[in-house]
Amino acid sequence: MAYKDYAEFNAAKEACRDCYVGKTYNKVIPSDGCKNPKVLIIGEAPGNLEVEQGKPFVGRAGKLLRVTLSKHGFNETNSLISNVLPCRPEGNKFPKEEDIVEACVNKWLMQEIELVKPKYILLVGSTSLYYLLKIRGITVNRGKWFYLSKEQQETGEGVQCMPTYHPSYVLRKMYMTEGKQILEHFENDIKEVAIKAGIYK
Ligand code: URA
Repeated sequence: MAYKDYAEFNAAKEACRDCYVGKTYNKVIPSDGCKNPKVLIIGEAPGNLEVEQGKPFVGRAGKLLRVTLSKHGFNETNSLISNVLPCRPEGNKFPKEEDIVEACVNKWLMQEIELVKPKYILLVGSTSLYYLLKIRGITVNRGKWFYLSKEQQETGEGVQCMPTYHPSYVLRKMYMTEGKQILEHFENDIKEVAIKAGIYK
């Protein structure tokens, strides 16, 4: 379906009850930021607090992500924060791949990318790495640049994406031996995307 504009797309997305997540728990959380972003940031799925506040990444992990983003020049005029799933899955249990790809990823996330045309994408965590690029393994792939599709990879033109750790993973590891390095990687990845997008300050 082709949408006239981002507002029409958002209204249709909000009304979506196509997958079983939407049917059982039907609050769709809209993306947050501007509609012509230099960088699109993609997380996994909203949690309880996000549902309460109607905004992605507002919990503890969200605060870490938002503080790090703003420290490096991201703001609501140059970026947009979205999720692979715009609804919170029941019990925070991420659905099976076959249940969401058609109903959700292709229907909403891919169309959102087409509509807002970001120059860069920051993939936050292994779920968005997998659903956008079909690549497994955040630890070995974070901090590297990829094109959004095979065709773009071949032509060397298109949307460039960088995966980084999910902030809840960074928080979980914070007080462990490897915690300091994980936080450093997370910060450096975000900084590199900001520099490449020309928004670093
Ligand atoms: N984690 C995510 O991946 N997305 C959110 O919106 C909140 C927490």
